[in-house]
Amino acid sequence: MRLILLGPPGAGKGTQAERLVKKFGIPQLSTGDMLRAAVKAGTPTGAKAKSVMDAGGLVSDEIVVGIIADRVREADAKRGFILDGFPRTVAQAEALDALLARTDMGLDAIVELKVDEKALLGRIEKRARDMVAAGGTVRADDNPEAFKVRLDAYREQTAPVSAYYARKGTLKTVDGMMPIDDVTKSIDRLLGA
Ligand code: AMP
Repeated sequence: MRLILLGPPGAGKGTQAERLVKKFGIPQLSTGDMLRAAVKAGTPTGAKAKSVMDAGGLVSDEIVVGIIADRVREADAKRGFILDGFPRTVAQAEALDALLARTDMGLDAIVELKVDEKALLGRIEKRARDMVAAGGTVRADDNPEAFKVRLDAYREQTAPVSAYYARKGTLKTVDGMMPIDDVTKSIDRLLGA
């Protein structure tokens, strides 16, 4: 099973991806997680990405496409993967198509979580509070200023990715405003799981 989860920041992609990981035994490939790991490890990629990420902007297509091209070739991705947070631009979607065609891999589903924009900031603030309560560190971009930039980036650069897949006839949409378990059930139904 190879699938893409699309949706704005705070839509619940990460939560649903975790559940799909358990159900299908395939890895979640989150470019956000990979970039945060690169920042933490102090790699050259992390150094390039940090300030853009902290401000809520998008890291260059070249960097994220390179990360994904390497990651999908790893052994644990042989049986499939869930892309979370990638592709975020039409250029990334086209690069992914080319990459999958080269490696003879197809996508089984592209699922978009549709969420009322007014609910998103509240969800991000809750994520930050839950993280503190669990003793973790709040993401540098989970604050209202960076969130606004992230939402603008989503509207301008990522919403066209949904249109790209809709044109190809492969996009499936789920109401992300439902309770988490109901969203999971809807995704399961779409995937025939
Ligand atoms: P996320 O954890 O998916 O919200 O990603 C956190 C941040 O990492 C984003 O706000 C971007 O700065 C960067 N990022 C993650 N994935 C991508 C991507 N596919 N393209 C460009 N930037 C990305």
